[in-house]
Amino acid sequence: MDAIVKLRNLSKSYHSKEGEISAISHVDLEVAAGEFVSIVGPSGCGKSTLLSIISGLIPPSEGEVFVNGQIGYMFQKDHLFPWRTILSNALLGLEIQKKMGRENVAYAHELLEKYGLGDFKKHRPQELSGGMRQRAALIRTLATRPQILLLDEPFSALDYQTRLTVSDEIGGILSAEEVTAILVTHDIAESIALSDRVIVLTQRPCSVRNIHKIDIDRGAARRNSPKFSEYFDRIWKELREDG
Ligand code: ADP
Ligand code: MG
Repeated sequence: MDAIVKLRNLSKSYHSKEGEISAISHVDLEVAAGEFVSIVGPSGCGKSTLLSIISGLIPPSEGEVFVNGQIGYMFQKDHLFPWRTILSNALLGLEIQKKMGRENVAYAHELLEKYGLGDFKKHRPQELSGGMRQRAALIRTLATRPQILLLDEPFSALDYQTRLTVSDEIGGILSAEEVTAILVTHDIAESIALSDRVIVLTQRPCSVRNIHKIDIDRGAARRNSPKFSEYFDRIWKELREDG
C-alpha cells in the first residue's frame, strides 16, 4: 500500500492540573494515497486529538507520525468571514499562504464554477444556505491544493436533510479532486456512505477497535444497498458494546 499517512504505536497523554489524561493508546494506522477513511468513536475518546497530531498541531507522547503531503483542515464551523464575499473567502487560504499567483487564483475560480458557486462569487456567506457555505469553505481549502484533507465533524452543525446532501456532495468533490481524506464523525451512516474504510475506536484512551473495509459501489445509491445496513449494525454494536 502506498501510504500517505502512517501512525506507528501512537500514544498521547495530556498533562493538566488534575493530573495526566491519557487520550490515545497505541494506535497503528496507514492511509493510502487517494483513500477516504472515516474514524468513528465515542464522544471524548480522542478523535480530535488524533487529527491534531496528524496535522502536526500537537506532538504525540509516544510513537511516530509520517505524513507525506500538504494538509488541509475542515471543521464543524465553516469559519467564513461574513464581511468578505464568497470569492474573497475562497481566496483566503491562498492569501494566508502567500500563493496568490495567477494559476492558483484561476483554480479557485474554476472550483467555484465547477461546484455550483459561480453565480455567488459576489455574495456574502449569510446569503447562502448552510450547504453552500460548507462547499465554499471546502473550496477555500482545496484552492491551496492539499494532498490530505482532515475533516473534524464538518457536517454536524447542519440539519439532517442538509447533512445528507452536503456530505454526498463533499464526498463527490473529494473523490473528483483525488484528495486523500480522513473524516472524523459520530454519524455511522455518514462514515459508511463516504468511505473506503471505517476505523472504529474504543473509549478513551482510544485504540483501534476494528477496521471495516466498505465493499459497496460508490455513489448516492450506496445508502440503499442491503450491505449498508449490515455494516451499520456491526459498527453500531461495536460502539455500543464499548460504551
Ligand atoms: P473527541 O474528539 O473524540 O471528542 P478529544 O480528542 O477532543 O475527543 O479529547 C479526548 C480527551 O482528551 C478528552 O477527555 C478531553 O477532555 C481531553 N483533552 C483534549 N484536549 C485537551 C487539552 N488540550 N488538555 C487536556 N485535556 C485535553
Ligand atoms: Mg472532537
